Amino acid sequence: MLFALTPSLALSAGCATVYNPATERTESLFIGTAEEVSLGTDMDAQLRKQMQFSNDARLKARVESVGKRVAAHSDRQDVQYAFAVVENKELNAFAIPGGFVYVHSGLMEKANDNELAGVLAHEIGHVAARHSAKRLQAVLGYQLFMGVVSGKTGTQVNKALDVVFNLIDMGYSRQDELLADKLAVRYSRKAGYSPYGLVSFFKTLQKESAGKGSGFSIPFLSSHPPVEQRIQHAEEQIAILAQK
Ligand code: ZN
Repeated sequence: MLFALTPSLALSAGCATVYNPATERTESLFIGTAEEVSLGTDMDAQLRKQMQFSNDARLKARVESVGKRVAAHSDRQDVQYAFAVVENKELNAFAIPGGFVYVHSGLMEKANDNELAGVLAHEIGHVAARHSAKRLQAVLGYQLFMGVVSGKTGTQVNKALDVVFNLIDMGYSRQDELLADKLAVRYSRKAGYSPYGLVSFFKTLQKESAGKGSGFSIPFLSSHPPVEQRIQHAEEQIAILAQK
């Protein structure tokens, strides 16, 4: 843990303790929704300068319609979810703080709507569980974080982006990934998509990486649990939901 403040100081600085239905836990956060959305908005603007976003109206409409339908069933409704397509052949999707979700054009070509719903629901799950906000809070500490939010300089936003991209590259913890998969199955099912979409997409990724050697990695799978374990875990979650 890299908290810069003692709990009592953090509390006086506006730390809120709230129950999060996504994690089923009571959590202490000094990053409120307003700060998270403000930071996410700046990061999104920065990303639009650094990455090539797709102008393909058909792709944009598809990610919007599938994404919004799934997001309506997220445990977290205090952010407006926004979806964008990045021109990139790598099979990947990611989320930044504040409800901004991105999917690569290469992934959209490979995935059918049930699979896309599963992938987007996984990213929405990270947002609902506030995984990246918690990591930012832990790495930056209160003062640096508030400096980023209030300063809004390009350098400060880039620093926050570095933290989030480092997190995305290194992968979230095993526990965070499995929770996002669990939420993905639940949200996509509630939205009327097949909950097997995520499993089926994992199997596509498995096929893509088969025989490519250990140096080949798929960003969406750059997490600690091996894909076989994620498939098994997602199938177990589907079975539990089916009994309810
Ligand atoms: Zn993930």
